[in-house]
Amino acid sequence: MSQVSAARLRRAKRREHGGVRAAASHTPGLRALKASRTPLAFPPLIARKRDGGALTDDEIRALIDGAARGTIPDYQIAALLMAIVWRGLTNRELVTWTRAMVDSGERLEWSALPGPTVDKHSTGGVGDKISICLAPLCAAAGLYVPMIAGRALGHTGGTLDKLETIPGFRTALPPAEFRRVLTRAGFVLAGQSARLAPADRVLYALRDATATVESIPLIASSILSKKIAEGAGALVMDVKVGSGAFLPARRQARALAGALIALGQRLGLRVRAVLTDMDQPLGAAIGNAAEVREAIDVLRGSGPPDVHALTVRLGAEMLVLGGLARDLCAGAGRIEQAIASGGGLDRLRLGVRLQGGDERVIDDPGRLPAARHEQTLRAPRGGVITRVHAGALGRAATLLGAGRLRKEDRISPGAAIMLHAKAGACVGRGDALCTLHYDDRARAGAAKPLAEGAFRIGPTAGRASPLVLETLGRLE
Ligand code: URA
Repeated sequence: MSQVSAARLRRAKRREHGGVRAAASHTPGLRALKASRTPLAFPPLIARKRDGGALTDDEIRALIDGAARGTIPDYQIAALLMAIVWRGLTNRELVTWTRAMVDSGERLEWSALPGPTVDKHSTGGVGDKISICLAPLCAAAGLYVPMIAGRALGHTGGTLDKLETIPGFRTALPPAEFRRVLTRAGFVLAGQSARLAPADRVLYALRDATATVESIPLIASSILSKKIAEGAGALVMDVKVGSGAFLPARRQARALAGALIALGQRLGLRVRAVLTDMDQPLGAAIGNAAEVREAIDVLRGSGPPDVHALTVRLGAEMLVLGGLARDLCAGAGRIEQAIASGGGLDRLRLGVRLQGGDERVIDDPGRLPAARHEQTLRAPRGGVITRVHAGALGRAATLLGAGRLRKEDRISPGAAIMLHAKAGACVGRGDALCTLHYDDRARAGAAKPLAEGAFRIGPTAGRASPLVLETLGRLE
């Protein structure tokens, strides 16, 4: 478990009973606790949560503060996280937990900007390159988009890894630079710095290593703590549903969307959730440099219809939330206009330059890295493609080097799967289904059966799933 540093473990072992001093806080209870220098023992808190009890606000603040500072042993935090996976958090606990995560670091503030700040966050999918075209388009339409993005993990891709295939592009920006890029380009796409919601970095790394990611309150607090810390005024959540999603079932996705909206309401952040299909990959490209190329295509007015349509829809939602469009129709019109005028493409060029990247890739995407080898997989028989399993293709792309099996793995920027056919297409025997792009031949051997198994071919087409399944939360 790379995230559990040796230093943290050494510190933990030095503690005999697992007690730590209460963390600094502005609350009287916690201040008194600190003044008394009474150690707060965590095992009883873990036991209480394990048995279905609730934690007090001061206890939660001490826990989050201790997690962010590294003063609580990882094994105690992990045990508590597992108890939360089973027992959940009450509304009060969740609000305090999320606030404490925000308070563990800095909070950016954008009231001096001449336009509204609205962000979009996806729960993660396969071929989801929407942020790369959406953020500059919204900026061209008058919004400010301070986007903290993530990395590839599991079978899902990460916006930061995609952007870093642009030579020179930097995603680690100190707050002053984050501010400069946002102010000038109207959007910024950067990673979570050590100063924004640092407790989430610690908790997320531990959750990833201890099978405690799949908890609605933990996911909701993790996402919203970062969005509140980055200073977004409103948030559109793209909650994915289907085989390539983190929570595949629609019922789970709806519950997560509801939790995000309710938590946002309690913390003063307007959240609108759009449940979208992730049963098949988005677009034709799965893989980092290939997805940047596809996002550029969308900004040029071409690109796959589903990526274009979802970009326009989410952009419209953001513009209405930000008060720059009266309804979704008007919002969609403004996004289409930013595509047609080239305004979105110009914003991306500017953003890439300001973040140190080689802006020539925007006009010449051939400058992006490409893999050394390729192999095309063909239909074993004729028929209609009834399913293109996003989860299997995401795992195959990860095996090719497009993602990470472990957090410390290096990404292969040109590794990709390019789809030639999607659900509903008619194919003849021997027609191309997809092409694998890879640098390491051994990896292709492992990925090929997974990719082949992702395509189902039948005699007749199944029912096509709409891209946008439903929306939750108020649009105002
Ligand atoms: N994305 C996040 O930022 N946090 C989670 O817990 C899950 C997805």
